[in-house]
Amino acid sequence: MTLHIPFDNSYASLPPRFYTRQVAQPVRAPRLLAFNAALAADLGITPGDPADMAAVFGGNALPEGAAPLAQVYAGHQFGGFSPQLGDGRALLLGEVVDRAGHRRDIQLKGSGQTPYSRMGDGRAWLGPVLREYLLSEAMHALGVPTTRALAAVLTGESVYRETALPGAVLTRVAASHIRVGTFQYFAARRDMEGLQALYDHTRARHDPQADSPARMLEGVIAAQARLVAKWLSIGFIHGVMNTDNTSLSGETIDYGPAAYMDTYHPMTVYSSIDAHGRYAYDNQARVIVWNMAQLATALVPLMPDTDAAISQFTDAINAMPALIETARLAAFRPKLGLTGDDPADAALIDDLLALMQDGQADFTNTFRALAQGRARDQFTDRAAYDAWDARWRERLQDEDGAEARMLAANPAYIPRNHRVEEMIQTAVAGDMAPFERLLAVLSDPFTDQPGQEDLTHPPLGHEIVAQTFC
Ligand code: AMP
Ligand code: MG
Ligand code: MG
Repeated sequence: MTLHIPFDNSYASLPPRFYTRQVAQPVRAPRLLAFNAALAADLGITPGDPADMAAVFGGNALPEGAAPLAQVYAGHQFGGFSPQLGDGRALLLGEVVDRAGHRRDIQLKGSGQTPYSRMGDGRAWLGPVLREYLLSEAMHALGVPTTRALAAVLTGESVYRETALPGAVLTRVAASHIRVGTFQYFAARRDMEGLQALYDHTRARHDPQADSPARMLEGVIAAQARLVAKWLSIGFIHGVMNTDNTSLSGETIDYGPAAYMDTYHPMTVYSSIDAHGRYAYDNQARVIVWNMAQLATALVPLMPDTDAAISQFTDAINAMPALIETARLAAFRPKLGLTGDDPADAALIDDLLALMQDGQADFTNTFRALAQGRARDQFTDRAAYDAWDARWRERLQDEDGAEARMLAANPAYIPRNHRVEEMIQTAVAGDMAPFERLLAVLSDPFTDQPGQEDLTHPPLGHEIVAQTFC
């Protein structure tokens, strides 16, 4: 074996009821489609020859030091509680401590059935694997906390989703895969020993300073407030903000039907399974509060005084909307070139968004154009824009370096839905060039890149992708 991964596993030392030890189901003809050499270097991984890499990241060979397991968890899915979910198509291979000293999970997704698969086949098809690879790497380049993509392998087998599709396995890297739903699993079973062990593990891993579950909860609330604010500032719609897809680490996790908005509208939904718009763009700021309330509920049994804990946690949850609003303004201010915290900024930002909504302006291009002094072209109601522009210029008078600040906060490139879908279709046909082009351009999203202007274009009418599927 030429590939070497310096495993240092800790989750596997938790009690056996936290997981099921399991190896991947071998695949017929694994072929390495993508490998993130820069991330591998950060993780201390020594790449091997392509056959070894395909064997390991396709699940056919177990690298030395791996302790593969499927994690158990629970979760609220679209508001309804499932007391037992778990890795139904994923396996934690193990953990490494990266060059910066941070512990990172290495997980295979699409690696076959586990005891938590329910009716599922344990597999993934190429589309969602490449979507997650591209969107998570783009998210990282946009400066937003996220899981990363280490490798994508084509399995040489078909996966059946209404029709036969090429199967694939994604290797995902995360600060951890501890979810709100992991805490819910032990709390719902009244497994106090398990809950305490999970808390101890999570605290050691993500927040060693926290001296109580209350402090840890506050830390997660703060991290999630910042995360959702960042999503809003780049037009990102997660699509499935179930509590099993909300990470204790504060990273974006589980890209399923995730997408970026083209035309701005606060109620935008892409996910085909989100029939009622629970996870629409603008609802994300409310849903994350609800998700944190579920985490708080699961943590209450760890507190010595239940009534005091409920009252303290309720206060923390009630304070979260204001935290999110503060984080949202902090994320949007540099998009307008602003610093400081002028109380009038909220109206300035929201009035621009309202104009964009009325004029069906492109979210990404409007902000980029602000930085380049050509935003007026993005609006049909020029008079309304001019009135807003005058207020903005007046506020900008006190600012130095506004243009540079805007160029660093307003990306030129996002993974536009129609480009992602086109990339998936060409990859299914065997051509990885569009994937590689998008990946390269999106690794530097704040820099205008010659020859890549077409990637800034919103979809034409017939190119619009209205729905995404996981
Ligand atoms: P997700 O929507 O990806 O967050 O998944 C929700 C739950 O369904 C998780 O427990 C997954 O492991 C499980 N799941 C999703 N797709 C499959 C599949 N093809 N086979 C088995 N389990 C699956
Ligand atoms: Mg077990
Ligand atoms: Mg999930």
